[in-house]
Amino acid sequence: MEIKKGIGVSPGVVISTAVVLDAEDLVIPKRFVDPANLPAEIDRLGKAIAQSVVDLATLRDEVSEKHGKQIGSIFDFHLGVLKDKTILKQIINEIKEQQTTAEHAVSVVTRRYANQFLQMSDRYMSERVKDIYDIEKRILRNLIGQKHEDLAHLTQDIVVIAHDLLPSQTAALDRTHVKGFATDAGGRTSHTAIVARAMGIPAVVGVGNLTAEISGGDTVIIDGNRGVVIVNPDAEQLAEHRAYERTLQEFEITLNKLRDLPAQTLDGHQVSLQANIEFPEEIDDALNRGALGIGLYRTEFLYLAAQHEPTEEDHYNAYVQSLDRLKGRPLVIRTLDLGADKYTQAKQLTPERNPFLGDRSIRMCLHDIPMFKMQLRAILRVSKMGDVRIMFPMISTLMELRQAKMVLSDVMEELEDEGVDFRRDLPIGMMIEVPSAAIMANHFAKEVNFFSIGTNDLIQYTLAVDRTNEKVAGLFCPAHPAVLQLIRDVIRNGSRNNISVSVCGEMAGEPLYTLLLLGLGLNIFSMNGPDIPEVKKIIRSTTMEHARQVARKVMSFDSERQVMHFLREETRRIIPEAF
Ligand code: PEP
Ligand code: MG
Repeated sequence: MEIKKGIGVSPGVVISTAVVLDAEDLVIPKRFVDPANLPAEIDRLGKAIAQSVVDLATLRDEVSEKHGKQIGSIFDFHLGVLKDKTILKQIINEIKEQQTTAEHAVSVVTRRYANQFLQMSDRYMSERVKDIYDIEKRILRNLIGQKHEDLAHLTQDIVVIAHDLLPSQTAALDRTHVKGFATDAGGRTSHTAIVARAMGIPAVVGVGNLTAEISGGDTVIIDGNRGVVIVNPDAEQLAEHRAYERTLQEFEITLNKLRDLPAQTLDGHQVSLQANIEFPEEIDDALNRGALGIGLYRTEFLYLAAQHEPTEEDHYNAYVQSLDRLKGRPLVIRTLDLGADKYTQAKQLTPERNPFLGDRSIRMCLHDIPMFKMQLRAILRVSKMGDVRIMFPMISTLMELRQAKMVLSDVMEELEDEGVDFRRDLPIGMMIEVPSAAIMANHFAKEVNFFSIGTNDLIQYTLAVDRTNEKVAGLFCPAHPAVLQLIRDVIRNGSRNNISVSVCGEMAGEPLYTLLLLGLGLNIFSMNGPDIPEVKKIIRSTTMEHARQVARKVMSFDSERQVMHFLREETRRIIPEAF
């Protein structure tokens, strides 16, 4: 039995059998090998490399024949790496020294190489990273014998243990049988974590070397509330967690009774609780939890879930489907926020060194006008079918916002020329998730119809903390006074300019911050569907006067510790069972 601490990112407790995955769904078997079996591992490695050489030589010859020698010679680089004695020696040493499987050793050594290539300033060399990953996968496939774990066709309940999961991989998990997951890497607001919360499956990320210590078939407890993973628990722990699991389920049943009641304070102040979605299919569940609309539709998931690039019709169909489900309730369609962790950097031609500060989101759209226009056309075409609003993400300068609006006007003109009907005064909003936009909120407020504060990015960019990096997860904190000042000022500037302001980052769904946000005057909270009932319960248990007092006091603190301590105490005063 071993207890491992990580970051609980999606609540709930699950006890199930582990399936351990590496990238691309390759199952990496047990990591530690008995010393007596190490020669057999080295032998397996030799055979897998020999097979990979044969496969590659065949592939090179076929490609050369079809497309010419120059293209075929691309694979000479791969063959060169496979035949490199130094690399082979390093993999063998890794097997012997770490007493590990050939699969694990291949993974470790090839990733070390990939990192070296990544750091080269020569573009040709840095692009070789993808070749290195390709080589890794080829050897792994030959080691594992093509056995891909088919997570789409599971027949029994499992929990997934992985080094990391892409947001798209997480979204594709079979909800019926995948009861939870835990990963070595990741942070609280990584998109993988957000998707897990939206799916309502318990998850713990940033556990460190979990995949090295769990083998397929182990019994694992994943406790998403306490951020704990227990490997092969003893009978006492099993009993304790089963009881805890039942208590949580009972609490959820009580909360769900609030579904049809308004999010209204005891003194009659009403706010709107809305949901964030990645896929139209999530809407029914969100409405079931009491959402009054969709405050954030992360449309980039259309790209992440598909094998091919979505067409205008794919966009159009997804929006029509969403509006059908919403029956007149608002739908805030956020334009594509691709890049950073929502695109595998390995898929990029040149992986960016600092993708969160790179060609992401609105920047990527303004660099790829045809892609941007295609989405805008689809949004406009559905604009009369329901309460559609459009929102631009990651705006950092006024010029960027004006450019985005200009492209929208161009698309409107094109549609008009084509005789397509659409709503000309469709509400246009922007996300406030970069400090420059928060500081200049007063100017931005004059050029849009609404703001939505993306605290996930606002925190990461204000505090210089990568939201996906488990090493600095302790520094990622919504309660930091600098973040709170920005949020307060954005809400104030929105209200002074008569535009609505929502928060759609994870903070909106965290019960710890409900009183504070309410007291700061926030009117729209947009969160993952499963978070709605608890936030509503807090709102219904307090008065606006109390919330304002809480906010005033919080804004006088100079440390996040004080803020969190005070908010915890105040919330527990009204709901003792909170947290
Ligand atoms: C945010 O940054 O808070 C946000 C809601 O957008 P995303 O999490 O998709 O970056
Ligand atoms: Mg964001």
